[in-house]
Amino acid sequence: MPLSFRFGTVGSPQATPPKPGGTVGGIQYAASIGLHALELAWVQGVRVGETTCAAIKKAGEEAGVALSVHGPYYINLNADDEKWLRLRKYLTDAAHFGNLAGATDIVFHPGSYFERPADEVLAKVAPRLEGVVDELRAAGNPVTLRPEAMGKVAVIGSLEDVLALAKIPGVVPCMDFAHLHARATDGTMNTYDEWMRVLDAYRRALGDAAMKQMHIHLSGIEYGPRGEKNHLVMEEADLDFKALFRALHAAGAGGRLLCESPVLEVDALKFRALWMEISGEQE
Ligand SMILES: [Zn+2]
Repeated sequence: MPLSFRFGTVGSPQATPPKPGGTVGGIQYAASIGLHALELAWVQGVRVGETTCAAIKKAGEEAGVALSVHGPYYINLNADDEKWLRLRKYLTDAAHFGNLAGATDIVFHPGSYFERPADEVLAKVAPRLEGVVDELRAAGNPVTLRPEAMGKVAVIGSLEDVLALAKIPGVVPCMDFAHLHARATDGTMNTYDEWMRVLDAYRRALGDAAMKQMHIHLSGIEYGPRGEKNHLVMEEADLDFKALFRALHAAGAGGRLLCESPVLEVDALKFRALWMEISGEQE
């Protein structure tokens, strides 16, 4: 039986050998150590051509590694009108070339509130996101857009925000549980009961099928009064990974779980081992 989750990393594993190297080498190395998901970290821009994308897609299919893309950090759904016209291309490019590369999901940071109330911001940004989905579908692109739950309190990306954006067909959250813990700022959002409430809200908003196709980012995290400061390795964090995994298991969750800690594949493999211990699942 395959595990309910595919485990992997955001960005190629750090020990990827230099040959063949690149994303293709990263995919092959990930599969060789038991990781069957990889998120292509196109965070500084989308700098690939069609030939590279075809090679990545082929490598993913051959190695049995499910691919996603992390879109550029510059995306900001709440930019002013003129700037948005430029920034939306980062998202449409990530989706276009991601789809060519075999990626099914495009993760992105939704943007800043610019100190406006969340409901006002969501009313402004949702139609923009819907416009992007419409453009992709018109071009025959089936990717799921995944606005990420974010760790800093000043940016779009609370649980409520990402569930609100997910009312748009084709939009489903990327659930970063470390970010949600950091965003609480006071050490809460770290118990089984708290995670069950999050997962219940997720299920109510998105349904049972979405529960089995979650897209999760996870790492240790350091935080302060404004939320996230930086990512930490698993052992240095106060995040109760066992409580989180027990809740995910109880909720019947599945999908992909991608590690973003400073020791990418080391912690990804620890997450996988912990999941097998808590769920009782075996490969
Ligand atoms: Zn991210």
